[in-house]
Amino acid sequence: MTDKQIEYSRRDLLKLAGALGIGSAISASGCGAAPGPPPASGPPPASGSPPEPSNTRAQVPRRPFGSTGDDVSILALGGYFDALNNLALVDSAVSLGITYWETTLRFGGQGYGRYFRDHPDTRPRIFLQGKTRAGGTRDDMERDLTTLLNDIGSNYVDFFTIQGVDDPAVLTADVRSWVDEAKAAGRIHYFGFSTHNNMAGCLQAAAGLDWIDGVVTSYNYRLMQDSAMEDAIAACADRGIALTAIKSQGLPTNPEATIGEPSDAAEASLAQFQASGLPPHQVRLKAIWAKPHIASICSFMPDEATMLANSQAAADPSGMTGSALDALRGSARQTASGYCTGCSEICESTVAGAVPIASLMRFLMYSRSYGDPRRAQEEFNALPTSVRSAIPKQDYSLAERRCPQCMPIRRLMKAAVRELSVSCSPA
Ligand code: SF4
Repeated sequence: MTDKQIEYSRRDLLKLAGALGIGSAISASGCGAAPGPPPASGPPPASGSPPEPSNTRAQVPRRPFGSTGDDVSILALGGYFDALNNLALVDSAVSLGITYWETTLRFGGQGYGRYFRDHPDTRPRIFLQGKTRAGGTRDDMERDLTTLLNDIGSNYVDFFTIQGVDDPAVLTADVRSWVDEAKAAGRIHYFGFSTHNNMAGCLQAAAGLDWIDGVVTSYNYRLMQDSAMEDAIAACADRGIALTAIKSQGLPTNPEATIGEPSDAAEASLAQFQASGLPPHQVRLKAIWAKPHIASICSFMPDEATMLANSQAAADPSGMTGSALDALRGSARQTASGYCTGCSEICESTVAGAVPIASLMRFLMYSRSYGDPRRAQEEFNALPTSVRSAIPKQDYSLAERRCPQCMPIRRLMKAAVRELSVSCSPA
């Protein structure tokens, strides 16, 4: 993620007020993989136990994790975070009270397992999220959970999720029976899924399922302008489903669609941000924390400065100013054509599902706004050859007419092929 504290000039601020995008890179250095310890025995301790502050640093506040009875830090460590190669940062997270951690399918749980092995008193204080791929069988889920528990050296994970659900049809009775068994065995405490496509529909579906405890969803100042999304968030809150926000900065796929150049709109937004007195990235986080239904924001914090800045924003008791909210609302409206809201059922149906348009928009966002072209290229090149070759052959004119964000889909699909279909260079 790119919540990076920056010094900004007036021109930069103009761009921030419009694009609201800050680049950063993943840091990767240090020790190699280490095997985790054998799983611990005995009953699992309660999830989300209040942390014992390890020093006098201001602690990130906590909120209830839905109606589970547990609570979590309102800032979570996650995103494309390579814990194994950033153990010092994991230590900083503990000292700041950031005790909700997300594992990733890419990096697994080995980094956290290494940390737990070195700090055995820490595991009971950490609320850990694990993942399995969408559309998997019982065997797939069993394999992913077993791998995770071995990686983290524990006999339970607090919150186990299906990654990247864009169609609630994957939440089958078979999945539920596996979940019930895993919960009964104490191997998972809570279950849910993450979503960054068709989020409103997925959230509404979750609200109707009494075995879903939490959902990790794209949510930011742009998406909160969508009434369908707000209704779905409210439905989950009514059901006691814990909500964790990801993609919290609302960074654009198409940074060109900004108000970064001098204009009346840019000047108005600039004035509003200046009046708020807060850096834009903090405004974006605070806008989400202002929603009481959101338990936590899962943020990619690749360095100490970012983690400290986000923690300070979390601990700051001041609320959002009206001018800052106005600036966000105005910026979301003025730069809509740069941000894909993930409503893939709208555009992908116009090409008979031949091209994963929303995913390609997300890959471009990783490359252009997150400053992470390697991740974007890896994800693009993981698509089947038949899908990649279909991208330039489609007629996107109907998709463009239906796109609620008025995105230049044809141009961006061409750009995805041009910018991402290259060999991934070594890290
Ligand atoms: S390109 Fe447009 S229609 Fe397609 S998912 Fe993005 S915002 Fe929705």
